[in-house]
Amino acid sequence: MLAESHVYFHKAADVLGLSDKVRTILLTPRRAVKVGITIEGEDGTLQSYEGYRVQHNAARGPMKGGLRYHPAMDEDHAGALANLMTWKTAVVDVPYGGAKGGINCDPRSMSEKDLFAVTVRFVEQMKEVIGPTIDIPAPDVNTNAKVMGWIMHEYSKYAGFSPGVVTGKPLDLFGSEGREAATGRGVMDVLAEALNEQGKSFGDITVAVQGFGNVGSNAARLIAERGARIVAVADHTGGVAKEEGLDVPALVAWVAKNGGVKGFPGADAFASSEIITWKADVLVPAALEDAIHKANAADVKASIIVEGANGPTTPEADQILNERGILIIPDILANAGGVTVSYFEWAQNIQQFRWDEEKVNLELDKKMSKAYRAVREEAFARKIDMRAAAFVLAIRRVGKAALARRYIAAELPF
Ligand code: NAD
Repeated sequence: MLAESHVYFHKAADVLGLSDKVRTILLTPRRAVKVGITIEGEDGTLQSYEGYRVQHNAARGPMKGGLRYHPAMDEDHAGALANLMTWKTAVVDVPYGGAKGGINCDPRSMSEKDLFAVTVRFVEQMKEVIGPTIDIPAPDVNTNAKVMGWIMHEYSKYAGFSPGVVTGKPLDLFGSEGREAATGRGVMDVLAEALNEQGKSFGDITVAVQGFGNVGSNAARLIAERGARIVAVADHTGGVAKEEGLDVPALVAWVAKNGGVKGFPGADAFASSEIITWKADVLVPAALEDAIHKANAADVKASIIVEGANGPTTPEADQILNERGILIIPDILANAGGVTVSYFEWAQNIQQFRWDEEKVNLELDKKMSKAYRAVREEAFARKIDMRAAAFVLAIRRVGKAALARRYIAAELPF
């Protein structure tokens, strides 16, 4: 995955005419930390995990990025995702750099008490490298507001009251209105812009969604509320489809109770992997990396792909889809709603002030639309695809900040 994220970077760097030296400076992470986490589990057994935090770039501000609890988490993964965060925060123009981290544990097979213990150990060992002005974690796959609340509480034991050390916290613990649904809302916002450009409305479209966690379920709910039909949803348990459109709130309630979409009453079941090639106008991959690859890209039926997940499309698939004229709204733009409202949350924490949900949503909609249009303009002007355009915009912004700090001594070609 690390190599893949570099492919997109180099494609944009070629467009900009960046030297090898500048590319190396912009791609090299500032710091990668690995810690061992051993706890005595509730059942008395010893559990050992590894925790990671890769801090990629801080030219535009404190570093920012999610924490993922997943057995496949490792330094390469964290590094690739940290790199993406640098460009993402620049695309939506929030004053942050990029970071990412996590623990290679499987929360689905752990008790809440063990998960808490693992999180506390992680903070204990990372406390010197995170902080409200250094690096601010947020939820990602298998982490949520509850975990962020634990982190804030634990970190504050060492540093004093520090609500700004993490975002995506519970509302009762200095979280922000609108954060939970923010990434899904951003997905809806950029899709609205794309439809508008094509003279279509939500009422005209059918949508297939892969992943029904934070991003997928909120995106599906908000897109359905605007009148689209969500015709198929798949997660790690299976797929469910309904041509007339799934009842999204009922599906959310079903998943909360049953742990997955499988068995949802009144819908047709299908194998989860079929979701990518489902017959729908729009595909929202909102699960894990590499979901769209060279073996299934040619069979994608959607004409618009909105990347809710990070890195859901491999470079080979990206090329196939572009050649087929499919519009891809890339991850660093499409799923930037989460980091945008994380920034609002952090700003509220620093000011000890609260925004209401209406203000959060309004400001988010504005940021997402502005970013979409900026990327679109870059794409039109340079005759490049949206992903390359998003990287061009981001590299330019990060490059200029790095130059101003003298991280880069050479002149930049922009
Ligand atoms: P989550 O843990 O809430 O949900 C993940 C979903 O993916 C679950 O529904 C799970 O069942 C599904 N899934 C896992 N393996 C699957 C498979 N093989 N096939 C189909 N579905 C599968 O995670 P999330 O926070 O919604 O994150 C999803 C993606 O969005 C990740 O790539 C993450 O990095 C990205 N993202 C999340 C946020 C955020 O604010 N949470 C922000 C930006 C990007």
